[in-house]
Amino acid sequence: MGELGIDVLLLSVGADLPYLTGYEAMPLERLTMLVLPRDDDAALVVPRLEAARVQERPEAFTVRPWEETDDPIGLVARLAGPAGTAAIGDQTWARFVLDLQAAMPTTRFRKASEVTGPLRIVKDAAEVAALRAAARAVDEIASAMRDRPFAGRTEAEIHRELVDRMLELGHERANFAIVASGANGASPHHEPGERTIAAGDVVLCDFGGTMRSYCSDITRMFVVGEPDSEVRDAYAVLVDAQEQAVRAATVGTPCEEVDATARRVIGDAGFGDRFIHRTGHGIGIEAHEDPYLVAGNALPLAPGHAFSIEPGIYLPDRFGLRLEDIVLATDEGPERLNEAPRDLGVVD
Ligand code: ZN
Ligand code: ZN
Ligand code: ZN
Repeated sequence: MGELGIDVLLLSVGADLPYLTGYEAMPLERLTMLVLPRDDDAALVVPRLEAARVQERPEAFTVRPWEETDDPIGLVARLAGPAGTAAIGDQTWARFVLDLQAAMPTTRFRKASEVTGPLRIVKDAAEVAALRAAARAVDEIASAMRDRPFAGRTEAEIHRELVDRMLELGHERANFAIVASGANGASPHHEPGERTIAAGDVVLCDFGGTMRSYCSDITRMFVVGEPDSEVRDAYAVLVDAQEQAVRAATVGTPCEEVDATARRVIGDAGFGDRFIHRTGHGIGIEAHEDPYLVAGNALPLAPGHAFSIEPGIYLPDRFGLRLEDIVLATDEGPERLNEAPRDLGVVD
């Protein structure tokens, strides 16, 4: 904060607050806000009825509960003092930001991610351990799906199975479970529906959740019965693209170069215009966070960066293919955290 010229950090809903305090704010009309001055003690302003859920950490911050008739905006403004520059959580509701700007008219507001982004992007040993445990849990699910029946079940049924399994295997919550069969797979974020899966269908399963506060995210591909040569050939291109992108993800390599590597392989095979999204996203306390593996992001990978590598090939009206692992950049080279089999799972 000193380097950036920021006098006070103001954090409400979003991942920055639990990252620093272990406490996640309820997305309520009542304001919760950590006031962290650069040179003074931090205070967590919290509605009285939520205060019981806060794990007090006197060495880190004091708890300042407010009553239903108090003015929490005024309280935050008083605690922040005459700050020249405040950095406010990127996901803070506009109603609170606007009220705070009115209550602190001489303060310049910036985004808290300027402060928290560089901290959160590098995972320490405990964070890596949590990401690893979450990855192991979804690996187990993805592997077991190869022995499960698909034909005759709806996308929604398989979606529920994936959600249930994530919770059974230790996730606090399931964040998403995309099941996209046949032509639905051509829409990368397809909402699982009542389509019944049939022989010959290609099925994309992309699922993840939160375990010990850190996220999992994996995509594996299944096909009901032996795949035809078109599916097999396109999938071989995708596996090659993903493998080469993982190998490219060495410390010092710009994020955009990893994206370009996957794109080159897919483009060379003639599917360039069918790879319609970035190659990957960072992962941590949030399912999508920095660093993004996308053209235009010249940020070099550093040890402790954790991100997905998930190229895809989407053929409208036919099928979609994606393969996704979480990868950790280390001085010893890129390390995949997911190890479930990557070949096309032939299922009944
Ligand atoms: Zn996605
Ligand atoms: Zn995913
Ligand atoms: Zn992902």
